[in-house]
Amino acid sequence: MAYLPLPEEQIIARYGPHLNYEPPDGWQAGGAPDRLVKTHCCFCGVQCGIQLKVRDEKVVGFEPWEEFPVNQGKLCPKGVKRYLQNNHPDRLLSPLLRTDTGFREAGWGEALTRVVDNIRRIQQTYGKDAFAVLSGASLTNEKAYLMGKFARVALGTANIDYNGRLCMVSAGAANRLAFGIDRAANPWSDIPLTDCVLVAGSNIGECFPILTDYLWRARDNGATLIVIDPRLTPVGRTADLFLPVRPGRDSALMNGILHVLIARDWIDHDFIAAHTVGFAAVRETVARYTPQRTAEITGVPAAAIIRAAELWAEAENSLLLHARGIEHHTKGVENVLSCINLVLATGRIGRPGCGYGTITGQGNGQGGREHGQRCNQLPGGRDIDNPQHRQEIAAVWGVPEVEIPHLGLTAVEIMEAIHAGTVKGLFMLSFNPLVSLPDVARTRAALEKLEFYVAIDPFMSETARYADVILAGSLQEEDEGTVTTGEGRVVRIRQAVQPPAHARVDWAIIVEIAQRLGKGNFFPYAEPENIFRELCRASAGGPVDYAGMTYHRIEQHNGLFWPCPAKTHPGTPRLFEGGIFAHPDGKAHFHPVEYRPPAEDVDEDYPIIMTSGRVVSQYLSGTQTRRIGPLVDQYPRPQVELHPQLAETLGVKTGDLVRVESRRGVVTLPALVVRTIRPDTIFIPYHWPGEQSANRLTNRALDPISKIPEFKVCAVRVSKAETNP
Ligand code: SF4
Repeated sequence: MAYLPLPEEQIIARYGPHLNYEPPDGWQAGGAPDRLVKTHCCFCGVQCGIQLKVRDEKVVGFEPWEEFPVNQGKLCPKGVKRYLQNNHPDRLLSPLLRTDTGFREAGWGEALTRVVDNIRRIQQTYGKDAFAVLSGASLTNEKAYLMGKFARVALGTANIDYNGRLCMVSAGAANRLAFGIDRAANPWSDIPLTDCVLVAGSNIGECFPILTDYLWRARDNGATLIVIDPRLTPVGRTADLFLPVRPGRDSALMNGILHVLIARDWIDHDFIAAHTVGFAAVRETVARYTPQRTAEITGVPAAAIIRAAELWAEAENSLLLHARGIEHHTKGVENVLSCINLVLATGRIGRPGCGYGTITGQGNGQGGREHGQRCNQLPGGRDIDNPQHRQEIAAVWGVPEVEIPHLGLTAVEIMEAIHAGTVKGLFMLSFNPLVSLPDVARTRAALEKLEFYVAIDPFMSETARYADVILAGSLQEEDEGTVTTGEGRVVRIRQAVQPPAHARVDWAIIVEIAQRLGKGNFFPYAEPENIFRELCRASAGGPVDYAGMTYHRIEQHNGLFWPCPAKTHPGTPRLFEGGIFAHPDGKAHFHPVEYRPPAEDVDEDYPIIMTSGRVVSQYLSGTQTRRIGPLVDQYPRPQVELHPQLAETLGVKTGDLVRVESRRGVVTLPALVVRTIRPDTIFIPYHWPGEQSANRLTNRALDPISKIPEFKVCAVRVSKAETNP
């Protein structure tokens, strides 16, 4: 069917986002709750423990959960307000079918019949792979596992991917290359034990606020802090040393620091010899990154590069933490490998207070990348094209190995396949690509070309407005399950309330569609725990092993760290102790990294670098948090951060509108003049849609290995806008 534009005002009037929503008076204050439900905050990979307060089968507030060891009752602004998403007036309460004039409510029978008829029609006409699946990294492990199996077994399509492709995949790929396993090497409890923390490309204070507490504890114990970032972030303002790297030059900077460490013989020869392979090639490569040359590439003074090496070397134990700042690049994998080279060359891994980690941003950023909802992956972190891995999963699923599709397309590639006409139908769960993918115009054009699109969502996302059928799904607190936190700890998510009205839990919707496709015998689940048991069995013996976990054990221990291969195994909070790595040779693998410039660098026409990221009060594409009034009040609309030098050149002061233009689009937003950003760089947060979307500007260019887009660097020109809106 052809795309028909929908009346946006009517959609917003009914489905929001209603920005000024406040809870009914007295929800928090009045009366005792009927029950408190111990669960977790859904808005980042820290997964802080929280007790949701339930009265009259509604979530009406929260209480601290002080016994949960990670946050001990503390919460950031998003955690404090998360309860307001439940019972929100924007919630989708029943399935919606698209009409010529908008959407109409429908029963589940009619909606699912339409979904299944269109899946069949498209796959019979164009082939199995013409129906693609896009999923989310905020989903529970159970749903992540289910989506991978649903795509391969119920639909038979190779084309399933997830929005973690926009988030953690560079770190994941580098971890596998270097260590043979993809998980943070240390629990957060190691941070206070260290002598030096190096934070590269991570705005910890805003994106993972509760982790700052661990940094302060390390500081109280005497640890030094080095921060690498184009912006002087809140954590950066407290650092002993801040390295204001020019966006897109991270691998050169890490090579430069390692150059100094090698030149001064501050490396761990015994560790390198006993526990690693490939160091000679790295030494040869970084020999070219003298402090002077590195300074020219990165914009960081040579003296600061040398000082960073000194601080790292002086510490007995050190931890390197990074996040999307170095990963959202066309060389994101190389950037991460350059960090790992530094850690390995100095033997700083596998001991208390000594190691390495990537901080996962999405609610289940770790578990979401483990259980088979990636196009290149089967459950247990197995590889889709590894014959033995395929056999192992085929045996668990009860299907012939040849029927499991091979490598499919990644998230951005699926959008390109829609443009190319090879993907005609889309099944989407908890993904809002119209806000989160780069180059919004190209994504919108792809959605308009689809023959059929079905979305499962608890709220009407900007992307779901393009759907033919929207199935009213569930929020985290409306279902049972598990998630895996950024430190590799599997925790229990408990159902506080049922989904409202006719909305359903996501897993049950997926299972019913599988049944209607005639594949119900492969999906015999009565509850999420059944899915978890199968997930654990499927993971047994794989790179990501949950085989020894049960809901009961996870609850008993306030979470279990994988690998946990047996029911008697205590879990593994710290990896690589004794210098034993997960590659078959037991060694860690160095990978030489030669710096490459960004896919789109500045030039005369577009002389400023634009970078993007988060603000503390918002989460990802904002589908949930842009509806929570008190969070919106903290940062009501995106602003363009720019340095006073650039502002003076443009004749701009805070509050003036500036026009930012890249080769792909334009936004006009208020300026926020700050001294905390490089003068050659601007920053725009990415949580907003439409004309406020930072991703109107960003570049679709992909990392060749991880296929992550280059969100953190594109070339723009900036000018003062002529009129206020
Ligand atoms: Fe929620 Fe993360 Fe804030 Fe904890 S730090 S309250 S998990 S958003």
